Order: sequence, then C-alpha cells, then structure tokens
Amino acid sequence: MPATMRRWMTIAIPAALMLPLACAMAAEDPRKQLAFEVVERNAQQMTDISDSLFYFGELGMQEFESTKLLKDTLTAAGFKVDLGGAGMPTNLWAEYGNGRPKIAIVTEVDALPGGSQTPGTYERKPLVKDGPGHMEGHNTHGGVASMAAFAVKTVMQRHNIPGTVAISFGPAEELLASRPFLVRAGYFKDVDAVIYLHIRDALATGFGLQNYAAISSVFTFHGKTAHGANNPWDGKDAVDAIELMDIGFDKLREHLRPTYRAHRAITFGGIQPNIIPDKGQIWWFVRDASMPAAKGTYDKLLKIAEGAALMTGTTWDVKYAASAWPQLSNKTLAEAIQKNIDAVGMPHWSEQEQQFARDFQKAADKPVLGLQNTPTPFGGRSQTAASNDSGDVSWVTPAAIFTFPSSVPGIEYHEWKAAVTPVSSISHKGQVVGAKALAASIIDLMTSPELLQKARVEFEVESKKTPYFSLVPPDAKPDVDLNRVEMEKYRAEMRPFYLSKSPRFN
Ligand SMILES: [Zn+2]
Repeated sequence: MPATMRRWMTIAIPAALMLPLACAMAAEDPRKQLAFEVVERNAQQMTDISDSLFYFGELGMQEFESTKLLKDTLTAAGFKVDLGGAGMPTNLWAEYGNGRPKIAIVTEVDALPGGSQTPGTYERKPLVKDGPGHMEGHNTHGGVASMAAFAVKTVMQRHNIPGTVAISFGPAEELLASRPFLVRAGYFKDVDAVIYLHIRDALATGFGLQNYAAISSVFTFHGKTAHGANNPWDGKDAVDAIELMDIGFDKLREHLRPTYRAHRAITFGGIQPNIIPDKGQIWWFVRDASMPAAKGTYDKLLKIAEGAALMTGTTWDVKYAASAWPQLSNKTLAEAIQKNIDAVGMPHWSEQEQQFARDFQKAADKPVLGLQNTPTPFGGRSQTAASNDSGDVSWVTPAAIFTFPSSVPGIEYHEWKAAVTPVSSISHKGQVVGAKALAASIIDLMTSPELLQKARVEFEVESKKTPYFSLVPPDAKPDVDLNRVEMEKYRAEMRPFYLSKSPRFN
C-alpha cells in the first residue's frame, strides 16, 4: 500500500465549496464552526485512536487494550470514565458535564475471528495467520465517537451549554452480548437521546425499524451412554434428540411468516459411532422483523426441544446466549441528523482513492462504482435482516442511527476484504466528516429542548406499539469469558504490530 494511503490527508477543499448553501448555514452557527475546527485540528489524534484499535484487533469481551487506550485518551481529555460496569470488564462509559439534557453516543469496538489482514492490499495476506481482525471496521468507532464527544465538550465549555455528553462502548456487539445487560443495569434511564454510530460506505441516517430482532440460545440434551453394538437398547441417544429437533423445526418452517430467519450450528454431535452419545448440543439463532414475532418462533422451538426429548427419553436444558431487539430509529432525531449530514457533505476523494476503490471493487467482482460522492438521501434505508444488540437501547430511549463513509461500497463486512481499508486515507477522511456531522447533531440536540421533546413524544407513540421486554433471564450474567481462549492464542503474535500511540486531544 502506498504510504499516502496510510497517512491522514488534509481535506484541501472545504465542504463549503461543495455544498455552498447548506454549509453556509452550518458556518453561521459559531458553535458548529468551533466543533468543526476542533475536529480538523485533532484529525490525526482521532485516526491514531482508530488505527491503534485496528492493530489491537480484539474480539468481543476481550477489548482490554482497546478500552485502556480509550480510557486513557478520554480521561486526559477531561471525561469521567467508568470501565468495567454492568459486570463486564471491557464495558466503557465516558461522560462530560452534568445533568440534563444528556445525549449519548452508543457504539462498539470489537473485531471478528479470522479477520486478520494486511491493510492496503486486497490479496489475502493476514498479519497473523488465522488471527482475529477488524473485518467490519469497528476500530473506526473508537476514534469518531471520542473525537465527536471531545468537540462537543469544547463547544459546551466555550458557549456555557448545560448538560452531559456521553459515550457508551458496549462489548461484543458481534455476538449481541452486552446491550440488554446495559439496559438492565439502567445506563439509559436518564438519557434524553441516543445516536447509534456505525461505519458504512455512506454518510447516512434512517428512521423506523432498521434491522431484525434475534434470539440466540444453546440447547443441550442429556441421554445415557452405551456400547453401539453390544447393548444399544440400554442407551438414550442425545444426538438423536438434536436431529429430531432439526427435523421438527424444518416441519415448522412452512408455517412461519415469510419474514422469519432461523439458523443453527451443531456444537456437539457425538464422539465416535460405536459410542451412544449421552450429550448433544445445538446452538440456534431465531430472527424476525419484530421481537414478538421472533419470540413467537422461539417459543415453538422450545416446544420442539421438549418433543425431541420425549421421543428419545432424554432430558434437556437451554442456555440464553444473546438477544437483540430491532433498532427503532426515531424520525425526529434522524431528521436533525440528516440536516447536519447534508451540511457537512461527503469527503473530497482524491483520484488516487477513487482509482483504488474501483480496482478493489473489480478485484472483488463487485460493481465498479468507486466511492460515493453525495450523502444518502433521507429515508433511503430499509430494514435489513441482520441484528445489532444496540437495538434494545432504542426501545427504552429515543435513538437514531448514524453511519459515516469509511469503507468501500460493495465490499461486504465479515469477510477479510473489509479489513483492507479501515486504516486507509479513505477511512480517515470518512471519519472526519463522520465526527463533524455527529458533533453538530449532538449540539443541535443539546441546545434544542423542542427537538428533544418532539423526539420523546414520537418515541412514546412508536415504542408503545411494541412494549419492550427483556429476553435476559433474571439470573443471567454477561458471558465475560466469551472469546477469551481464542484471543489469548493470538495476542503475542499480534503485539509486534501495535502502534504504541498515546493520542491527546487539544
Ligand atoms: Zn458492526
């Protein structure tokens, strides 16, 4: 990768030249102008955070290096930082200010197994063989969220704006493993509005249901072992129960709403054929467009497990693994965000960056479109079948989604290819416009009680259509050992790639 791809490049053409009217409006607001200046002055610090997190490449619940860097950076920047809340050592909550209004950025910084890749090259070349890595770009969330919150803090100080700006870095988004616990712990009780931050190939927001509800559970059957040839009649085959559960669910599929999704992995299927297995285990994901619909299918799955146990004479138990409500994005908040998206506009991509994107898309067999030049128009995003546990937050607090353009269109996440650009100049420029539009949106929310009131009224109507209930069993604790073994296997090999930066905002 050319050195220029790695370095943050100053945006030579101000957004004002691209979108004269909108930006002139933003420039008229000295608070936003100050926020933009803070972001530009600290662009290097922001991308140092994001790039550092890329090389930490930490899996969910194991984000120890990442949250340490974020804690040090935000503490030095004058934020009050709480690391380890809600029983999760890598759960980070940071805030500046006092009282209401309280506006929170919600995001995450976890990587994915097998995602290690040398950035800048779209030939498969892991930094560490089989190691984890940022093949979705969550590393960029660390920089953008911290930068935007610091810019807001600076504006609050200079303009005597009361209230609180907060950031929630929730662990293990990729396994939907933390937000229901954060909601249960009461983190969002006194929050007036949430902006959920995520990387994408677009500068965009959206309203209404943005993705799917999901329930993830592990079913274990217990039988009785016996010799497969000598006395199989004495055995109770727990793997037979797994098979029957699978067949039972397949019979149900015809009678489910077309919106449903269900998939499973058999995580224990016996040892060898001549041993009747006394254990069988199957891990299920059930999804639908709404949580009541997903829960309806899940309840039927429980009945199927019961039936499979009856048929095989086995016993069974089920362990909650994770859950996520669909994200309910508040239209009032989204409209406010869209104004700032349109005012800030997309980055000015260099011809070299466009060429890189086109070559990459061609090599990946995707439409050769290059990078987007205009923000996504309002309402341009429909509900997807993926899930994100931050959805739970959006049913207890008015929330809207916000994405910034730091990846290449057509390059799908959860593939190593998505780890090619998270530390490139494309990513860095996308982070700059992301931090600006995010900071400007928070300033609008903090200084407009009418806006927050309108968002609350809308929230009361929309969220009451489907009253929130938690899927977390009352005695359930977060699985803090998630990914521990996998992560520890690779840490020593990953360490030589660490950037050893200590970014300080000014
Ligand atoms: Zn994500």
